[in-house]
Amino acid sequence: MMRQYELVDRVRRYNPHTDEDLLNRAYVYAMRAHGQQKRASGDPYFTHPLEVAAILTELRLDDATIVAAVLHDTIEDTGVTKAEIDTLFGPEIGSLVDGLTKLKKLDLVSKRAAQAENFRKLLLAISEDVRVLLVKLADRLHNMRTLHYVSPEKRARIAEETLDIYAPLAGRMGMQNLRDELENLSFRYLMPEAFAMVSTRLEDLRETNRELIKTIEKELTEELALRGIEAEVRGRQKQPYSVWSKMERKSLAFEQLSDIFGFRVVVGETDECYRVIGVVHTKWPMVPGRFKDYISTPKQNDYRSIHTTVVGPGRQRVELQVRTRDMHDIACFGIAAHALYKDGQEASAPALSHESNAYNWLKRTIDMLAEGSSPEEFLEHTRLELFHDQVFCFTPKGRLIALPRGATPIDFAYAVHTNVGNSAVGAKINGRLAPLLAPLVNGDEVEIVRAEGQIPPAAWESIAVTGKARAAIRRATRDAVRAQYAGLGRQIVLRAFERAGKKFSEEKLRPALPRLARSSIEDVLAAVGRGEMFSGDVVKAVYPEFKEERKAPVPDRTEPGWFRMQKAQGVEFKSPGAAGAALPIRGLQGDLPVSFAPNGAVPGDRIVGIMTPGEGITVYPIQSPALEAFDDQPERWLDVRWDVEDSQALFPARIIVAAINEPGSLGAVATLVGEQGANIDDVTFNKKSPDFREMIFDIQVFDLKHLNDILSRLRVLPMVHKVERVIG
Ligand code: MN
Repeated sequence: MMRQYELVDRVRRYNPHTDEDLLNRAYVYAMRAHGQQKRASGDPYFTHPLEVAAILTELRLDDATIVAAVLHDTIEDTGVTKAEIDTLFGPEIGSLVDGLTKLKKLDLVSKRAAQAENFRKLLLAISEDVRVLLVKLADRLHNMRTLHYVSPEKRARIAEETLDIYAPLAGRMGMQNLRDELENLSFRYLMPEAFAMVSTRLEDLRETNRELIKTIEKELTEELALRGIEAEVRGRQKQPYSVWSKMERKSLAFEQLSDIFGFRVVVGETDECYRVIGVVHTKWPMVPGRFKDYISTPKQNDYRSIHTTVVGPGRQRVELQVRTRDMHDIACFGIAAHALYKDGQEASAPALSHESNAYNWLKRTIDMLAEGSSPEEFLEHTRLELFHDQVFCFTPKGRLIALPRGATPIDFAYAVHTNVGNSAVGAKINGRLAPLLAPLVNGDEVEIVRAEGQIPPAAWESIAVTGKARAAIRRATRDAVRAQYAGLGRQIVLRAFERAGKKFSEEKLRPALPRLARSSIEDVLAAVGRGEMFSGDVVKAVYPEFKEERKAPVPDRTEPGWFRMQKAQGVEFKSPGAAGAALPIRGLQGDLPVSFAPNGAVPGDRIVGIMTPGEGITVYPIQSPALEAFDDQPERWLDVRWDVEDSQALFPARIIVAAINEPGSLGAVATLVGEQGANIDDVTFNKKSPDFREMIFDIQVFDLKHLNDILSRLRVLPMVHKVERVIG
């Protein structure tokens, strides 16, 4: 545990005029107040506030902040009152500790259930004094550093909250170092495998590039010295979490990240930054579109630097950040940098007194964070700004529902509960009736008007923006469609039994299910309703001795078109003339056999049928080059449409994948296709050069969306160069 004199020493190192007596009194007071309390690690509780204070000494904060850190858990966890702290340490420290106590209560409410009222309290506490927030962030950092001692559930909740709230807040306040550490710790606890993977790759890369980095550092330092610029050049590597989130955000593979390595050039004066850029751009070609001047136009959180990317030695892309020492401090410590004690600073001036520039700067920042006076506006402009791609709405009972931007009451309803979504018929937004399609805005209170026995319209699926809502709508409509088919199937089956002079009952059908290769009666009925199963086969399954006299002729199954189609589809379609038959195509005439052109259409493609007298109808996608041959024979063109609702049938499609010729590229493509639920029928190699191989895959997909989804996923594979569909 940190000793009393150690704490004083740490502060005295940057603030020779610190009030030692104040620090000592706080130390003893908090130690007594926490007494025998223990942390999850088994350490005395008092070690925690001390470590929090130590983190803040690294940010070189004023005495009041350090003392508030030492005392930050006393009101909540021990018998101490605010009045007592006011009396012993003065009202300034008293209100800081009180603000922290309010924030601590927030930790008890998990983020998802966070109440607006509580959140307003948090923000009001922050706005009173930003130092409260600095202590809070240090408190969170220490808790994250010691997170492995708490239970796994608590660990996940705290790490998630850190990633969602505290890390972005640190970033917003310009405290990049703190943000990086909070993010990396959360990442490690939330996704240990991903964290390990990214860290290992970064470590490997660091090893591989060690010499190159040294070379660039040396070359650049010497080059700048030649022009009389004294600069500190440091190679730096992206943080694991920021690498990961970039991979996620842009769907990139690790290999595709071009800016894992960067260099930071720190100089003395602002004009030197521009001279450095001149030298760099003269020496190495710059990459267009990557130059950013945050010195002339600082970021909102006061970040200033010049960014550029050049093609450096070995044709490596090198990212550079150029800044002065002051800019560097602000980039690392943000708001806290304004509170730093500087050499020669007036001894007694508290860094964050109401008169100081630093305080005014903080005040401005807070005003910016909290533009607007009403609590609602407050809410809107602060926390909500941190999550600009989300909207936050409330249930009438005050539960907070976070949704992606563009979400509607439909998404809201499904976020509350699937049953609420399925039975939604209307919505009230802020007490007023509103259409279910109205986009929600921050702070809306949404009440869903419900009616039981509703089926959500299938069109909602394309309106909903959340995956949860879409999946639920799909399920509900599929269930409803299935129920309709089953109802139709029941009528057909009843009639078939009647015709056979038998009586239908579910009890008799149940033992016959294995013979029909179905697992439930509803399955059988729905299959009959959809035309996938012949009602006569159901009768025969129950009464094996029954022989049906079919009225319609059964198609000759050796007929080539018929056979080809069956093979291609992998499912049994009946010829359109047969009883209970169904083909996934509408608009057909008579009993003509139907087939699909090879490498042909999948549901979702616009299609056309071509009639060939004596042979039948061949279905082509409208963009098929083969159709040109029939351009001058309009009488053979037949208007057909898909009829594949709810079908689980697979359709053949051909794709060409050009990939880098390396071990595993075929495997990676095949795995991805398989993972997407498509079959691979055949693979052939078209061209094989030392660098590239072109593979032709004959695959089976459900529909066009499925196919396009596979194509776009293949395109993001690092080794894949080109992916195209081939239409015959
Ligand atoms: Mn604490």
